[in-house]
Amino acid sequence: MEQIDLHLKRKDTQCEIFVGFGVLEFLVDDLKARAMGHRLGIVTDRHVAGLWGRRLHSLLVDAGLRTDMMVIQPGEASKKWGTLARIFGWLVEQGFDRTSCLIALGGGVVGDVTGFVASVYMRSIPYIQVPTTLLAQVDSSMGGKNGVDLPHGKNLIGTVYQPERIYIDPSVLGSLPHAEFQHGLAEVIKSAVIRDGEFFEYLEHHHGAIITHDPNALEEIISRCCRIKTEVVMADEHDRGLRRLLNFGHTVGHAIETLSEYSIPHGMAVSMGMAAETALSTREEKLVSKDRTRIIEVLERYGLPTQIPGHHDLDALLTRMGIDKKSENGRITVVLPTSIGTAIVKEDVPRASFREALREVQP
Ligand code: NAD
Repeated sequence: MEQIDLHLKRKDTQCEIFVGFGVLEFLVDDLKARAMGHRLGIVTDRHVAGLWGRRLHSLLVDAGLRTDMMVIQPGEASKKWGTLARIFGWLVEQGFDRTSCLIALGGGVVGDVTGFVASVYMRSIPYIQVPTTLLAQVDSSMGGKNGVDLPHGKNLIGTVYQPERIYIDPSVLGSLPHAEFQHGLAEVIKSAVIRDGEFFEYLEHHHGAIITHDPNALEEIISRCCRIKTEVVMADEHDRGLRRLLNFGHTVGHAIETLSEYSIPHGMAVSMGMAAETALSTREEKLVSKDRTRIIEVLERYGLPTQIPGHHDLDALLTRMGIDKKSENGRITVVLPTSIGTAIVKEDVPRASFREALREVQP
């Protein structure tokens, strides 16, 4: 088992991250030993409840920890006010107070909703993350960003509130549908492109092991991504500098996701976004074509899309990017890779140049 510490100097906060097979059992002993809360509340979704939730609930109860479980509907549609209202109501009715602790057991949706609830319930209570999708294990469970969507766009309401601990057990990925695993791989490739050229080479050379869930390969990619994300978050918790690099692929990706009314999953949209933003980087003479080819080849090798479906109206996409909350005052801000392992944030990208780059990645 590997332990990675996330220290946030400004608030003197520390979040410990544990990665390894068997972490789920370790979690029970650890929570018992460290007395995280007088009362534990697992929040999970219907799929994960049957696969892992009831098991974790029994392990905690058998260990003498008072634990209840709340089950929400799976999927992005649960990231809304209605779900928050249900969870708040449940917490009050069950008598959860400031000495209680929440456990987010699930993918990014459960993590984002539970983190937000914990950040505001009774003016904040502690919570821990137990991510069960690859995307959540390599990305969304770390860094404290949380929130829900509005009809106007994704993640428009939320806070930045760090979990006390993150327990990452790759064995839970055994029940994850392959398509969901692939969505997580998009974030894995993103992390390598923006921060770690050596890790990118690892992804180029270990495709077989990763795709067949080889335990060493899974631990390797998850730990590497955790290290990259913690390093970035430690330098810039509130997204004002370095952390913005994590948005590589997301300027275009979020627009695709929203315009498709979420029928294109996050990971797929981010992959298309990375292809488009890579094309833009080469157009802007920031990235040599050889590196662009390597990025596209790796995305395709892992079965991820590198073209934006032809029926997408590019002007509608550009307009959607203009009002994306990540673009200040209507200007388009985008992350451009400058080599394999480095990237920059570019502001004020000319719309025409962006449009040409998008055209390049349409069939
Ligand atoms: P998700 O939470 O919807 O999970 C995907 C599906 O997998 C769901 O149906 C879920 O029930 C199922 N599932 C989860 N774990 C499983 C398991 N072990 N076995 C079988 N099925 C399992 O989706 P996601 O891709 O994990 O997360 C996407 C969300 O994360 C988006 O809302 C996105 O905005 C958010 N996100 C947040 C951050 C952040 O920093 N907070 C970063 C990236 C993405």
